[in-house]
Amino acid sequence: MAEPISKVSIIGGGTAGWMAAVHLVTRLNSRAEKPVEVCLIESPEIPTVGVGEATVPTMKRWFQELELDESAFIERCNASFKLGVRFANWDHDINGNPLNYVHPFDGLGDDIAGYNPAYYFHKFNDPGGAGNYSIYHSPITAIVEGRKGPKPLDAENFEGVLNYAYHLDAGLFAKYLREIGIERGVTHILDSVNDVELDQDGFVSAVQLQDSGRHEVELVIDCTGFRSMILQQTLGVEFEPYDKYLLNDRALAVQLPHLEPTRLDPCTRSTALGAGWSWRVPLYSRIGTGYVFSSAHRTDDEATQEFLEHLGPMAKGAEPRAIPIRVGRAKQSWAKNCISVGLSGGFIEPLESTAIYIVDKALGWIVDFFPDKDFSPVLSNRYNKLSESLYTEIRDFIVMHYCTGTRNDSDYWKAAREDIIVPDSLQAKLDLYKHALPTEDELDSGFLFSGLSYLIVLFGKGYFKDVTFAADRAISAEDWERYQNVLHGVTAELITNLPDHHQLLTQIRSRHAPKDENQALRDAINKTVANQPVITLPGQLMAPDISFAGQPDNGGNIL
Ligand SMILES: Cc1cc2nc3c(=O)[nH]c(=O)nc-3n(C[C@H](O)[C@H](O)[C@H](O)COP(=O)(O)OP(=O)(O)OC[C@H]3O[C@@H](n4cnc5c(N)ncnc54)[C@H](O)[C@@H]3O)c2cc1C
Repeated sequence: MAEPISKVSIIGGGTAGWMAAVHLVTRLNSRAEKPVEVCLIESPEIPTVGVGEATVPTMKRWFQELELDESAFIERCNASFKLGVRFANWDHDINGNPLNYVHPFDGLGDDIAGYNPAYYFHKFNDPGGAGNYSIYHSPITAIVEGRKGPKPLDAENFEGVLNYAYHLDAGLFAKYLREIGIERGVTHILDSVNDVELDQDGFVSAVQLQDSGRHEVELVIDCTGFRSMILQQTLGVEFEPYDKYLLNDRALAVQLPHLEPTRLDPCTRSTALGAGWSWRVPLYSRIGTGYVFSSAHRTDDEATQEFLEHLGPMAKGAEPRAIPIRVGRAKQSWAKNCISVGLSGGFIEPLESTAIYIVDKALGWIVDFFPDKDFSPVLSNRYNKLSESLYTEIRDFIVMHYCTGTRNDSDYWKAAREDIIVPDSLQAKLDLYKHALPTEDELDSGFLFSGLSYLIVLFGKGYFKDVTFAADRAISAEDWERYQNVLHGVTAELITNLPDHHQLLTQIRSRHAPKDENQALRDAINKTVANQPVITLPGQLMAPDISFAGQPDNGGNIL
């Protein structure tokens, strides 16, 4: 048997680097007889990208698996809850009005009399196309509009009546993970890699550090961000740009104070603008917002002006910074003894907040396929195949938002639909969906996006307008009405019983406040808890053949 790896060197201390450090030191060592040394080298001079603050629901599982304390994380990272993404102005209804919908993380599950509820929506509520399926399938739009949190005030960590993800402060998150990593045994080296040494087989044998000299390498995790210093710059792995599929190549980003701090949206917002779209991530303490756009359609100055106008008075005096974004992926995520994690391996515009999720998946696979010093290509081949499938799934889902778009009001939106290439893998799905609605079974990879995710977006675009499905003959209005009654009941119950989002976060944060300082706050909250009605779980409200799709975490899927 080949010699085991005794040291992992992570280069880069952004979100990817510190997630890697905590993940590997915990998963490789917590029950191991012979621990692997985990080192993280981060440059004191090169800043992190400083954005990336919205996640997907699998993040909760990542915290749980690594035995992290949810309420401490929420307090330390000014985190808030995210129940979905609210899309605004991406499409227009049949009267030309902007159509807004929430891509929810939870919804009523199960078929109705053996048929996907979407067929019922299509037949009975969406004959004209461009409909908001979300509100006919999920209580989340109402919960988001009511600014409710996903669990009762006294719920334990990770418990949730609704499936949820988080918004987090990227800078604080890296700091928080750094502390945990070091506590769990990570060796932290604050230094810059100036040079990379290769052996005669082209494997990385050492990195040269500016202050501390030569650092020997067995397995290196490249978390150096867009510069991809080891995988792409040194080992020469080719980059596959996605610019033939997606036009956006720049972003503006800025942090703003809340105008009304207690009115806290439990969702990310994505609002289409003239040459791209604006994200809005509401943290407990501030808002992170930005504009992802195409430099072929806007200069930085034009984009800044448009973005500030969109933000209105809240952005008075704000100076957004420009970030070039390189959309695409390294053709191999693992080459020789180097595995890239984070931006160094690829990036797809953050429309569905998928980059941190890709980091999470990559780390799971590194543990699953952890090599020894032989570095069998069987492991790296499998890893690269999985990584390619994941990128393809996410790329296709993001391209779908544009290529099925209906806006004709600017050159950008027309070009984003007509001047791009639709990947064959996506086109095959889109062709099929004109004949049968998405189910879980025909999705090729299904890591993150379920059939329901496709439905929510495609209905929003009127994609099924004028389509007749074979199922139309077999479904009844009575069954659909009954389903809607259940949904209304569940929604009303949740709205009545779930606490205000800001209040919930304040309560969670108070668990970590110094003992006496927040006594008044705790007393006030305890009083509210005592008066809070007990929540009936949605599943208990429903007819026996309908269950809640997102309970408790819905595996790996968004929905
Ligand atoms: C506009 C935008 C919006 C985004 N929004 C989201 C979102 O909503 N959700 C989401 O999941 N993701 C989002 N992302 C992606 C997310 O920001 C990244 O995936 C995440 O921050 C990880 O970045 P990273 O750690 O790979 O790189 P970085 O943050 O760039 O960190 C790189 C690290 O490498 C170090 N380094 C570089 N060179 C050297 C060297 N020579 N020696 C030593 N150290 C070195 C740097 O010091 C730094 O610590 C967004 C990205 C962009 C650009």
